[in-house]
Amino acid sequence: MDQLQALFGGTFDPVHYGHLLPVEALAEAINLSRVIIMPNNVPPHRPQPEASSQQRKAMLALAIADRPLFTLDERELQRDTPSYSAETLEAWRQESGPARPLAFIIGQDSLLNFPTWYRYDSILSACHLIVCRRPGYALAMRDATQQRWLEQHLTTDVQALHTLPAGKIFLAQTPWFDISATQIRQRLRENHACDDLLPPAVLDYIMQQGLYR
Ligand code: ATP
Repeated sequence: MDQLQALFGGTFDPVHYGHLLPVEALAEAINLSRVIIMPNNVPPHRPQPEASSQQRKAMLALAIADRPLFTLDERELQRDTPSYSAETLEAWRQESGPARPLAFIIGQDSLLNFPTWYRYDSILSACHLIVCRRPGYALAMRDATQQRWLEQHLTTDVQALHTLPAGKIFLAQTPWFDISATQIRQRLRENHACDDLLPPAVLDYIMQQGLYR
């Protein structure tokens, strides 16, 4: 049987426990041996990250140094064009051949926005979506059409993720972490403690670099 490959994309400005801990719990629950973290190159029309690409990459490398589940993929950072998840995931499908099960991991907030993403339907043709719980976000989609779309793709069958190549949405029962990068940047600006929110090595790096002041 083909091993399910999973990719976790984001801005990671900075990476925090709300990224790492739900995905580790997910991996345990659905038997994933590896998760590829792929920081994105933010499109010019979106607010730019405060940390540079190099700094976001360095923080991720520190965060995953003692977390063997994760590997880092720099391909989007190395491009100087905007990252569209659809293009990245379509390319990943091309490289992997038609049969290999692939999954893209997102948080509940990203699921709610997903129907507005560029070529979102083609993303589901390329891979499954695995959704981690995130406090503060609705559980239902924004309208009936989007809810129907979700229900057409939903599965509760972990085995389906490991056998079918793409097309399913799985709502994982991961633990809730009320943490966002926005909140961390804000707390650092106000000199509030962030020790419970992100790995110590990442926090040390932020201090050394004078980031988020
Ligand atoms: P920001 O506050 O800057 O918007 P963020 O904390 O939401 O950032 P991103 O890098 O935008 O972090 O998120 C990358 C992915 O991780 C997204 O799919 C997002 O839904 C998910 N994610 C982020 N924080 C959490 C969390 N606390 N729980 C579950 N998923 C999360």
